[in-house]
Amino acid sequence: MNQDSLIDAKPANDANSTLAVHGGEARQKLADSVTDPIVCASTFTFENTQSVIDYIEQQQPREEYGRYGNPGEKIVEKKLAALEGGEEAILFASGMAAIVGLFMSKLNAGDEVVFFDECYHRSREFCSKHLARFGVVTRQVPACDYDAMESAITPNTRLLVSESPTNPHLSIIDLERFAAIGKRHNVETLIDATLATPYNVRPLTYGVDYVLHSVTKYLAGHNDLLAGAIIGSQDQLESIRNLRGIMGAVNSAHNIYLLQRGLKTFALRMERHNQNGQAVAEFLESHPRVEKVYYPGLASHRDHTIAHNTMRGFGGLITFLVKQADWKETAKIVDAVTVPRIAPSLGGVESLIEQPLVMSYYECTPQERRQFGIPDNMIRLSCGVENAADLIQDLTQAFNA
Ligand SMILES: *Cc1c(COP(=O)(O)O)cnc(C)c1O
Repeated sequence: MNQDSLIDAKPANDANSTLAVHGGEARQKLADSVTDPIVCASTFTFENTQSVIDYIEQQQPREEYGRYGNPGEKIVEKKLAALEGGEEAILFASGMAAIVGLFMSKLNAGDEVVFFDECYHRSREFCSKHLARFGVVTRQVPACDYDAMESAITPNTRLLVSESPTNPHLSIIDLERFAAIGKRHNVETLIDATLATPYNVRPLTYGVDYVLHSVTKYLAGHNDLLAGAIIGSQDQLESIRNLRGIMGAVNSAHNIYLLQRGLKTFALRMERHNQNGQAVAEFLESHPRVEKVYYPGLASHRDHTIAHNTMRGFGGLITFLVKQADWKETAKIVDAVTVPRIAPSLGGVESLIEQPLVMSYYECTPQERRQFGIPDNMIRLSCGVENAADLIQDLTQAFNA
C-alpha cells in the first residue's frame, strides 16, 4: 500500500491502528530514517529572490516562517485527518486555542451560537465572558434537548456546538439528529469529540461540519504535552488556518515529535482504555458505596442505546457519586487511592482521579454548581492503561479505608 492510499482510506472497523502508525508519513524519509526528523527552525530559507517570488505567486507548498507551521506539524495534521476521515486537520497549541481559533475566525459581531450546556468549563467561560465582549450572542440549552436547540436558532445563528460524550456527565449526542438540525437551518455544526476520539466515533461521517479535539488527552495520550486540533473540509478550514497564523498558537517541533510518537500507539491504547473503563464502571455500579455511575457502556446510562449503536467503545472516563457522602467524605476516597494520581485532565496512560467540586468548580457558588450538575459527592476517574484488576483492587481498598 502506498502512502496516498493510506491517507485517503476510510478506515475499516479495525484499520485505525495502521493509520495511527503510517498515516500522513512519507515512505522514505530524511537520511533513510524510519522516524521523521525534529526540524528546529523558526524560519526557512530561500535560495534567491526569484524563489521567494515563485513561492508567493505560485503558492508552492513549502515552509516560510515558523508561526505558519513546521514540517512535523504537517505530517501530524495529515495523520489526524486520516484517523478522523476528514479532508484536512489544523493543529493548535492546545484544545482551548483550537476552540478560540474556530470561534474567532467564524463569528462576527451580531452572530449567535447555540450550545448544549454540559461542557468543558473553559469553553463555557470563553462563550459567556469573552465572545460577548465582541458582540456575539451565545445561548445555552440543556444537553440532548434537540427541540430546545432548534427553537434557539434565529436568522443570526451561525454555529451549533456540543461535546460528545459530554464532560463530566458523559451524555451522548445523537450526531445524525444534531447535524440534521444544522443542515435544516443552514447553520454549521461543531462537535468537541475529545472524550470519544476517532477510535470510538467519527462525527464527520454523520454530517457534522467540524470535529475538535483536545489532543492533550487521548490522542497524545501520555500526560506530557498540550495540543488541539480541528478536522473538516479544506474550504471550511481555510479561514481558521489563516487566523492560526496570526494568533501564533502553533506547536514547537519537539512537541510535535512527542505527539507523533504518542499517536503510533493510539489504537492500542484506546482498546485498553475502553476495556478498563467498562470493567471499572461495572465494578463501581455493583459497589454498595456508590450511588450512581455515569458511563455510556452501562445499560443504566440514559444514552446507552444511542452510544451502543454509534460507538465502538466508551473510553476510560467514568464519573460516579458516592452514596450519602458530603464533600469531605468524598475527598477521603480520592485521597485513599494509590494507583490513580490526583490531577486534572484525562486520556493519558496514567489513571487520574479528581473531585470536580474541588478541582474545577471550587470557586463557583453552590447554586452555580447545581446549575452545572456538579454535586458534592461526585468523583471523576480517568482510567489509564494499567491492569483493570489493579484499579478495581485499589478502589476497593479506598472505599474500605
Ligand atoms: C481538556 C479539554 C479541553 C481543553 O483542551 P486543552 O488541551 O486543555 O486546552 C476542551 N474540551 C474538552 C472536552 C476537554 O476535555
